[in-house]
Amino acid sequence: KAKGDGRNRVAYFSAELDSQLRDKMRLESKLRQAVSCEAFEIYIQPQYDYKTSKFRWAEVLIRWEDPEEGFIPPDKFIKLAEETGIINDIDQWVLRATCKLWAEHGEALRAIGIEGVSMNLSARQFYSKTLFAYVEAVFEEYGINPSCISFEITESMVIENIEGAIETMERLRNIGSRISIDDFGTGYSSLSYLKRLPIDSLKIDRSFIMDIPGDTNDVAITSAIIAMAEKLNLSVIAEGIETKEQCEFLVEQGCFHMQGYYFAKPAPVRTFLKPQLNAAVE
Ligand code: C2E
Ligand code: MG
Ligand code: MG
Ligand code: MG
Repeated sequence: KAKGDGRNRVAYFSAELDSQLRDKMRLESKLRQAVSCEAFEIYIQPQYDYKTSKFRWAEVLIRWEDPEEGFIPPDKFIKLAEETGIINDIDQWVLRATCKLWAEHGEALRAIGIEGVSMNLSARQFYSKTLFAYVEAVFEEYGINPSCISFEITESMVIENIEGAIETMERLRNIGSRISIDDFGTGYSSLSYLKRLPIDSLKIDRSFIMDIPGDTNDVAITSAIIAMAEKLNLSVIAEGIETKEQCEFLVEQGCFHMQGYYFAKPAPVRTFLKPQLNAAVE
């Protein structure tokens, strides 16, 4: 069908590219605007500890609601923000919002068992020369105990620059903050690197959790990661648990920390504090 139709196809592809490029530029300008008027919000998703039947930590996740388009998910704008450098402002905003959240609600969160909050860092911020000073300044501004904040860095970020990663991790850990490797299993890091990293925990990527216990490959990978984390003295947390079967499988394998819709969906912090407030009123 396409034979002899070459010119039209080229025109079609270029029109397609054109509209993709326009969409991207539109999103970029919206994103810049969102940054300048701080149109973001943070949600938290608590992480369940099977052994104590309590939420122990919570992950901070950014949310962006555009007046015309509604909620735009992070997967749709974080990559663009990284490409354009806008991510620097976003990450700094998230750090401040995280500290503000902990300053305002840390006590109430602790009362329900939550010891701290973890936030995601992009590669740009993580490798920025000024990150550590900025973190310290913001902690001080909000009176934050650094041990209540954890930073999530993806496995693929770490392999970009192992020495640099170790240095930043050590500085953050020296003041008491925690580091976890996010999306673990997707980044092809070698075991010899992993052993050298000053980290606290591994987060098993949701893509491995999705099809357990049915998929034998994912079962093998997941149990291998759990066993390895144990040998390396790292805590391990699985993300994306949606079913009872996934939860039971993980517990059988020795993974007791879990984050997923099965336990709680990401929501504004007040959602998790409401029952507490109500209990206090009663
Ligand atoms: P991530 O750090 O791996 O975060 C986990 C993602 O999995 C979140 O998506 C969360 O809502 C989702 N999730 C948790 N449990 C379940 C589940 O049971 N089922 C399903 N289907 N999904 C689940 P979200 O919030 O859309 O964020 C996507 C990614 O965007 C994050 O992956 C992270 O890489 C990035 N991101 C989110 N917030 C921030 C931020 O504040 N700063 C930066 N730099 N990146 C962020
Ligand atoms: Mg994360
Ligand atoms: Mg992840
Ligand atoms: Mg992810």
